[in-house]
Amino acid sequence: MNWKERFIRTVSYPLYEKSRGLTIRSKLHALEAGRNRTPSEIQDLQLRKLRSLITDCGARTPYYREMLERNGLTADSFQSLADLSRLPVLTKSLLRENREVISQPGLFPRTYCHQSSGSTGDPKVLCADTEAESFRMAALFRSRRWWGWDIGSPVLEIWGTYHLQRSLMRNIRMSWIENRFRFSAMRLTDASAAETWKLFRKHRGAYVRGYVSSILGIARLFEESGRHPAELGFRAVCTTSERLYDDQRRFLESAFRCPVIDEYGASEVGIIAFQCPSGGMHLMEENLIAEFADLPQAGPDGPKRLILTELNNRATPLLRYEIGDLVRPDPEPCACGSALSRIRVDIGRDSEMVRLPDGSQVSPVLFCHMGQYSFFEIGRKIRQYRIIQKRLDLFEVEVVCRTEDQADVESYFRKAFEEDFDGLVRLNVRFRDSIPPDASGKHRMFISEIPTGGSESG
Ligand SMILES: [Zn+2]
Repeated sequence: MNWKERFIRTVSYPLYEKSRGLTIRSKLHALEAGRNRTPSEIQDLQLRKLRSLITDCGARTPYYREMLERNGLTADSFQSLADLSRLPVLTKSLLRENREVISQPGLFPRTYCHQSSGSTGDPKVLCADTEAESFRMAALFRSRRWWGWDIGSPVLEIWGTYHLQRSLMRNIRMSWIENRFRFSAMRLTDASAAETWKLFRKHRGAYVRGYVSSILGIARLFEESGRHPAELGFRAVCTTSERLYDDQRRFLESAFRCPVIDEYGASEVGIIAFQCPSGGMHLMEENLIAEFADLPQAGPDGPKRLILTELNNRATPLLRYEIGDLVRPDPEPCACGSALSRIRVDIGRDSEMVRLPDGSQVSPVLFCHMGQYSFFEIGRKIRQYRIIQKRLDLFEVEVVCRTEDQADVESYFRKAFEEDFDGLVRLNVRFRDSIPPDASGKHRMFISEIPTGGSESG
């Protein structure tokens, strides 16, 4: 540990927590003290938290108060976790339509807002109170510590977008509290390889975190220009936001010669599952109850719809929230000894790169950001959107608007495409009444109609 890591861990991070009213380190300590809990002890903890959450929701959240009353339910109605099924599932569209009576940030002196359009093209912003934020961060650090990655450890983030928000306060926080450096891997070219390599060498020994597609793009760029990513001495590579295929994992492991860790989270609930050193994707069950609902067309052994109840957040309580991803429960005990249940997140996220006429590639996550960063202006007018690549140089945006104000929405997308693609592509904008889900039941935000010329494997 160098002096900066030590300074962050012992001075700046504790001060940051105190100034924000966060209790991340004490919750981290409690999580680690409970590492030997049995499955039934975890379930007891979940039931206790659930009953307390139901009591608070009935008292303070208009949406749930009305729903509990309508169904004649109180906290006492929940005698086991199975009783959760007495509540209806909260779909994304229900959440969208009832956001004002579900989200109650005004009840709290401080909240943490997380914006996302997700990968499904429906922009949203949801708030966590300080308790929930502390629990989320504590669970994340608990899991990272399985890999020796602690508060203050250096992190090099590789995202696939130009839109890296910058402000002085944000830069100070990233550098001196989180020890985090961000790099945009959008539009990688051979010419930028040398410069990028020099920059990355400054972050030797960091933990790398980012989109699968962006990290793959960087690794390939280095290898093709005769540089060996292993020389960067990264401690681990952590992939997030997109599905990590086995062949991609093997490629990254051999390129960087370090562990490749998969992380699964969502802006609505924070970290959901994290991979342990034995390869298990463990659910953060101290924070969440996970249910697995059948997918009618998939059969009993097929993928399940993941339904989550976040146990700590009173600012935006999500009870039985259908997150929109398909997963498979993995009932075998894990070799690491943890009693936290495991899942396989093998469906629902995709990492096909978007190819452009000049041969460069960008991550489809860019299209999520088009919704995310515009949320406060244009995002309000958009109910849903989907982007289809028709040819290398032709895209089509399908938009369902909330308002009649279509001209604004159209010019927003035209400007975003012009800026992000330097005029390399043309765009058609089509307004629709609805966008039906695809065959898997998911609203995919990006669809490529270009035949794939080869696999992503290395
Ligand atoms: Zn494990």
